[in-house]
Amino acid sequence: MGRKAIQFYTSSLAERVYMQSIIEEGIKTALKQDEFSLYYQPVVDMQTQHVVSVEALLRWPGNGMGPDRFIHVAEATGLIGRLGEWVFGQACEQHSAWIRGGLPAIPIAVNVSPVQFRKKNFASHLQEAIHAHCIASKGVQIELTETAVMEDIDHAITVLNELRSMGIKILLDDFGTGYSSLSYLSRLPLDKIKVDKSFVHRIQHDKASRAIIEAIIALGHTLNLEIVAEGIESDSTLQYLRYHGCHQAQGYHVCRPITGNQFAAWYREYTSLPH
Ligand code: C2E
Ligand code: MG
Ligand code: MG
Ligand code: MG
Repeated sequence: MGRKAIQFYTSSLAERVYMQSIIEEGIKTALKQDEFSLYYQPVVDMQTQHVVSVEALLRWPGNGMGPDRFIHVAEATGLIGRLGEWVFGQACEQHSAWIRGGLPAIPIAVNVSPVQFRKKNFASHLQEAIHAHCIASKGVQIELTETAVMEDIDHAITVLNELRSMGIKILLDDFGTGYSSLSYLSRLPLDKIKVDKSFVHRIQHDKASRAIIEAIIALGHTLNLEIVAEGIESDSTLQYLRYHGCHQAQGYHVCRPITGNQFAAWYREYTSLPH
C-alpha cells in the first residue's frame, strides 16, 4: 500500500497495543485500590410510574474513561472475571444498604459481558455474592447482549434457566442491534427485552426506527416479555412509546445515572410527588 500507509498502520497498531496495556494496568490498580464505583439509573413503569428496577452502570472516577472504552480491554485481558465479580458484590451491597436505609427492595440489574457469562462458574459466583450479602435472589437481575447467548445457545439456556429458577430476571440488552434472530428469541428463557437507544433516539426523525420499535413491542407482547426502552430523553418520546404499548422507560428524561446515595434521595422525592 506504499510506505506511508504502512507506517501509519504500524504506528496506530502499536499505539493501540500501548493504550491497551496502559488501560490493563489501570484496571488492575483500580481493582486493588477499590477505585471503581457503580452508578444507578432507574427504570419506571409507563402506566403506574412505579420504579421497577435500577440498572447498575460501572464508573471509573478520576479516570473519566467510560465503560464502553475499558470493558473490552477487561474482556481481552481476562480481567473481566474479577471486575464482574466486583460489580456483583457492589450491587448486592448497595441493594442491602438501600433496604437498611428504608427503601423498598428494588431489584438491581447488572450488565454482564459475554466473556463473563460464558465462564463456567458464572452462575455460582453470582449466587455467592447474593448469599454473602444476605439478599433475596430476586434483588438482582442480569442484562445480557445477544453476543453472550448466540455462540452456544444450549449452554446459555441451561445457565439462564438455573438463574431464573432462583428468581433472577433475565433481560436482553441493546435489542435490535445484534443478530435479533427471531427463532432463538422464542427459545431463550427471558423476562425482558430492552430496545436499544439508537432506535429510541431516532423516533422523532426516522420512520424506519419507529417501524422497528413498533415491531419489537409487538413481538414482546406476543412472546409475553416485558419491554423497556432505554435512552428516553424527551417527554414526546416517552409518550410515543407508551402509546405504542412499551411497558417500561429508562433515560435521562426520567433520571440520569446517579450514585447510590443520590438515588435514595431521588427515590424519596420521586415517590412523594403525585403521579
Ligand atoms: P448499556 O447497558 O446499554 O447502558 C446504557 C447506556 O446508555 C449507559 O452508558 C447509560 O449511561 C446511557 N444512557 C442512559 N440513559 C441515556 C439517555 O437518555 N441518553 C443517552 N444518550 N444515553 C443514556 P454507560 O454507562 O456509558 O455504559 C455503556 C455500556 O457499558 C453499557 O451499555 C454496558 O454495555 C456497558 N457497561 C456498563 N456498566 C457495566 C458493567 O458493570 N459490566 C459490564 N460488563 N458492562 C457494563
Ligand atoms: Mg444495560
Ligand atoms: Mg443497552
Ligand atoms: Mg450498550
